[in-house]
Amino acid sequence: PISNSLSGDLASAIRCLQWYAETTDKVYDELAPARPDSISMITREPIGVVGAVVPWNFPILMAAWKLGPALAAGNTVVLKPSEYTPLTTLKLGQLLCGVLPPGIVNVVHGTGGVTGDALINHPRVEMISLTGSIATGRKVLEAASRQIRRTHLELGGKAPVVVFDDADLAEVVEGIKVFGYYNAGQDCTAACRIYAAPKIYDNLVADLSAAVSTITYGADAGDDADIGPLINARQFERVAGFVDRARAARHLEVTAGGAKAAGGGFFYQPTVVAGALQSDEIVRSEVFGPVVSVTRFSDADEAIAWANDSDYGLASSVWTRDVGRAMKVAAALKYGCTWVNTHFMLVNEMPHGGFKSSGYGKDLSMLALDDYTVGRHVMVKHG
Ligand code: NAD
Repeated sequence: PISNSLSGDLASAIRCLQWYAETTDKVYDELAPARPDSISMITREPIGVVGAVVPWNFPILMAAWKLGPALAAGNTVVLKPSEYTPLTTLKLGQLLCGVLPPGIVNVVHGTGGVTGDALINHPRVEMISLTGSIATGRKVLEAASRQIRRTHLELGGKAPVVVFDDADLAEVVEGIKVFGYYNAGQDCTAACRIYAAPKIYDNLVADLSAAVSTITYGADAGDDADIGPLINARQFERVAGFVDRARAARHLEVTAGGAKAAGGGFFYQPTVVAGALQSDEIVRSEVFGPVVSVTRFSDADEAIAWANDSDYGLASSVWTRDVGRAMKVAAALKYGCTWVNTHFMLVNEMPHGGFKSSGYGKDLSMLALDDYTVGRHVMVKHG
């Protein structure tokens, strides 16, 4: 919905670009008197041409996350948006034409297999930065291995949300309602894999299912709808397939949603699947839709083990009033980010990036600026 786009995608992209604009004079070099007759310095320099490939789920923001640090570090960028969301990036490119000299930011359009493939294999692209799927991440690595290039990969996620008995139930429910379903769940950090402690489990499933049923969506919901549609027919059928297969499993219960929305468009009902087991597909695979699973755990060790038992390692959260337990669990989670009593809070000052198959390299923060520079050693003999 346009309201989401303005307050989320666009507003965050503006803040991100402003933040990086202010970093351009804050990258200092280091000096070392490495030998008695010499002084050595490390200089951070631009890498060159960055080939940036971005997905459709937040088209402007994902572009800003690459443009901000890449430009602040002095690189040029060839940006390829998703073939499903070309126009916002084209508009961004037009706006930048009036701000930057020609050739600094270039936008190329086309499908991944043709334009994307040409970009990641181009001999003058010195660094390939992708936000996308694991399959495309592999293509980037293949291309980079042929030419020996730097890569920066932000791939998928399946965020665990560990809820202890002492958590504030109302806050948990409100949090998952927002952070599990924002952008119709088409978010790599979506709060989609809930692990609930034994005493809070029943109330959490009941209250979450009731809350999720109040999310507004659909062809007639208007500009202020909470969530929009899935991106295309393929994604729509994919999401429906996950829920249909879950419903067919006897131990799983669909306690909210679970169907395509009436009235046309690729709208899928916000859905809760309860009674999920660690081995279930709905717990293990990235759905990238408005579908949240809830699994009951018995103790903290089991919750940590299950949360970490994933190919992904991007984002996670822990919900408890016990600060000691929060710190202990946060330290044990193998994720690029762990939020305590919240989820999905991305800030320009802090890095965002994955472990394991979620990729490597950081978006946001000074760490991203580091990723888009290369360190050099210059030694001056003075004695
Ligand atoms: P995708 O990998 O299919 O497409 C992403 C981009 O890669 C598109 O621009 C596409 O055209 C391009 N592409 C596809 N095949 C290519 C190829 N062979 N060579 C070069 N480029 C190619 O992913 P998607 O379906 O657009 O996006 C969803 C995925 O992105 C999800 O897995 C999601 O988790 C992930 N994602 C991750 C983050 C993050 O920060 N980690 C953020 C958003 C989305």
